[in-house]
Amino acid sequence: MISGTNSIGNTSSKKGKVTFKTFNPKENKNTEWTFYEATSNEIDDAVELATNAFKVYKHISGLRKAEFLEEIATEIEALGDELINTYCKESGLPEGRARGERGRTMGQLRAFANVLKEGSWLEAVIEKAQPNREPMPKSDIRKMLFPLGPVVVFGASNFPLAFSTAGGDTASALAAGCPVIVKSHPMHAGTGELVSSAIIKAAEKTSMPNGVFSNLNSSGIEVGQQLVKHPKVKAVGFTGSINGGTALYKLANERDEPIPVFAEMGSINPVVILPSALESDSDAWATKYASSITMGAGQFCTNPGLVIGIKGEKLNGFINKLSEEILKLEPTCMLHPNIHAKYQEGKKELSGQNGVTVTANYEKDTNENTAQPSILKVSGADFLANTKLHKEVFGPFSVVVTCENATELENILNHLEGQLTGTILGSEDDLEKHTNVVDALQSRVGRLLFNGVPTGVEVCSSMVHGGPFPASTDARFTSVGTSAIKRWVRPVSFQDWPNKLLPQALQDENPLKITRLIEGVYSKN
Ligand code: NAP
Repeated sequence: MISGTNSIGNTSSKKGKVTFKTFNPKENKNTEWTFYEATSNEIDDAVELATNAFKVYKHISGLRKAEFLEEIATEIEALGDELINTYCKESGLPEGRARGERGRTMGQLRAFANVLKEGSWLEAVIEKAQPNREPMPKSDIRKMLFPLGPVVVFGASNFPLAFSTAGGDTASALAAGCPVIVKSHPMHAGTGELVSSAIIKAAEKTSMPNGVFSNLNSSGIEVGQQLVKHPKVKAVGFTGSINGGTALYKLANERDEPIPVFAEMGSINPVVILPSALESDSDAWATKYASSITMGAGQFCTNPGLVIGIKGEKLNGFINKLSEEILKLEPTCMLHPNIHAKYQEGKKELSGQNGVTVTANYEKDTNENTAQPSILKVSGADFLANTKLHKEVFGPFSVVVTCENATELENILNHLEGQLTGTILGSEDDLEKHTNVVDALQSRVGRLLFNGVPTGVEVCSSMVHGGPFPASTDARFTSVGTSAIKRWVRPVSFQDWPNKLLPQALQDENPLKITRLIEGVYSKN
């Protein structure tokens, strides 16, 4: 049952008078649920509880935290169809996507549980004392990673489950040993409330400290700002717009004690189409890309918003086929009227830029909030001269750039902002011939793909979902995959510390039986 309350630790709270509703974009009307905007007092209570919970939670063993994460996954599954139906109502996304995203969310929680059980993520390093070293004796020095403290997570509009309440940011922060306060996304507060109830049940069942998790509702930016400014909050996870992410990043840096903000933001995910891909597989690539561009109404951070090729008949053929195929696909509903309005605005603005030709624009009547796909074409020179064309238009939309030659193509890549992904379509010979193009692309992105589509991000240990600004605020980290845990920790060294008083991960006997780096050699001893 959705009651519209905030969860402050294990208790429900609706102290405020301000309320809001979520919206069903398919039916173009409010949902039946009313949510209470979190008050300043509720924010303080949630942070205070998280701070107290941290004193206990940071000492809880990896195995017990793993049990907690696994129990969250079990409780999310137990929510059954109520969760699926709420998700669909609040997002306009189809049931299959809801079930897939729920599976991914549970999979992420279980993946982090496995990381905790295995233990080497702690990066334990041991260098023993050398009392007889000349000219100076060397101390015994050991280091490992420790959690930062309470983390604020902003739910993302485009992934109501996998990047929201119990999504990758929350799962990785809880795994690291950090209590989490979620600022629920106002477009799917009901979905968030159900997932919160699952996390709280799991915390109670596995005896986690009260305050290890809280969920706060809000339909405006003030709650999030107050949370980021709160002196007891130690880090922030965010997925959303460049404006939102950079505003929070600046706020966090203006604090007396600046804190890290790991924001995953905009990206147009350039795709370079090299000559051999146009020779052999042009139509097949056009069909695949029509489907990738429109997947989920184009509301993916890895949506291919830019295709770059070298001008000629072959590239024209690709553009014609892509434009034809994209108009064959049934347009789908966007997440919210605001996102739909921004899409329409962005599409109109870019379509009117100098030198731009609209090669496809879905014009048949559609239901409210439905995204009509579009493809634009522009020359390399016009693209280079106008950075408006380099910006993300969130939706089923892509710009194809026709370059004079490989030098112009490389120049364009060097002028792009940071991106989550970069794709090359072609042959292995092409890759060898165009090393400058490959280098230019690699310097701008977090993930390089060969002969594929960037949509679809695998959750695994080798995944990088991040990239140079503005794809993310810190290109050294990923927000997807098990390495995401590294965002919420800092290293601490112990010098000449008594063995029995060291954390177990650093004790001589290796009671946790984890892999450690001892005198430069990885060992389980
Ligand atoms: P958003 O506007 O960035 O909002 C995300 C969350 O951050 C919301 O909870 C929002 O709070 C909060 N927020 C935004 N600006 C803030 C600020 N200045 N201070 C404090 N909190 C702030 O993203 P959205 O609502 O999901 O969608 C809007 C647009 O973002 C989309 O049209 C799209 O262009 C882009 N977007 C991009 C991606 C991507 O992966 N590239 C993903 C999602 C969205 P409130 O909603 O409560 O105001």
